[in-house]
Amino acid sequence: MIVTIKKDGNQAQVDNLLTWIKSIGLSTHVSKGENNTIVGLVGDTTKVDIGLLESLDIVESVTRIQEPYKNANRKFHPEDTIIDVGGHKYGGNNFQIIAGPCSVESKEQVLSIAKEVKAAGATALRGGAFKPRTSPYAFQGLGFEGLDILRDVRDKTGMPIVTEIMSEFHIDAFMDIDIIQVGARNMQNFSLLKELGKLDKPILLKRGLSATIEEWLMSAEYIMAGGNNKIILCERGIRTYEPYTRNTLDLSAIPLIKEKTHLPVIVDPSHASGLSRLVRPMSLASVGAGADGLIIEVHNDPPRALCDGAQCLRPEQFSEVVRAIDVMLPLVGKVRD
Ligand code: PEP
Ligand code: MN
Repeated sequence: MIVTIKKDGNQAQVDNLLTWIKSIGLSTHVSKGENNTIVGLVGDTTKVDIGLLESLDIVESVTRIQEPYKNANRKFHPEDTIIDVGGHKYGGNNFQIIAGPCSVESKEQVLSIAKEVKAAGATALRGGAFKPRTSPYAFQGLGFEGLDILRDVRDKTGMPIVTEIMSEFHIDAFMDIDIIQVGARNMQNFSLLKELGKLDKPILLKRGLSATIEEWLMSAEYIMAGGNNKIILCERGIRTYEPYTRNTLDLSAIPLIKEKTHLPVIVDPSHASGLSRLVRPMSLASVGAGADGLIIEVHNDPPRALCDGAQCLRPEQFSEVVRAIDVMLPLVGKVRD
């Protein structure tokens, strides 16, 4: 981190600043130029409050050299993290497809969709039991009963299950879930993230509705700081001014975040676009951008879905998307199992 001192900053003030920086465990490197004095902060600067430094009378500007995340940072862990979920690997040259309904509606519904998406190539089953709905009057999910349905379908199909947790008070009920999803709305629920950090369990961390890439990585850092490194990031579109789609899929975030972090990154083209006809092109674009997988909403009767029917694929449409993905995967050096 580099702090530039204002031209009129006097030596006593600079000395005070240097003493304070040393008191927080960092060393300093001072370089006096003709016009400005520059102070380099050396050491772990992740705990430094940039806003506080910038607010000091003698400080002209502060530039961060080192990112504020450590555990998630590729600089300190150059090789890709690979996460095993029921024998299926996320990260590296692997490509996984998670599919299933937006929400768990009934055992028959989940079981029939699970069988179809498995036959088409999905390696994990998604389905929300606890649903974060904008309206309190909309279907809120089946809750604990929904979790039981997912467990039952896992037993019958052998598919690992992915489902969203909305509160740290539910953690006990999620201990046997294969991948715990943290939804966009909870990306910065820090008390939830801290509790998930204590588990040894894969977490699917969705990008917040309007989160920057750095904020998203800092949320991963919360979980990792507690000791859980099994994080799969999920780009699911961000809120922009564009109303023709539900969200705007930030495709450039994928190659960019892969430079910044070693964690696997998958894409959710269903929530990103909100329109089933855009799921195929956005899935293929995500493969091209280097994603490590996809999570796609599939429903056997979209017009009657209790949640997100407009963006769900029918099973046969899903199969066709998987076939198109398979044509593309060799081009990006990835394999699907
Ligand atoms: C979901 O996957 O069902 C969901 C609610 O997604 P998001 O948190 O990305 O909106
Ligand atoms: Mn949904």
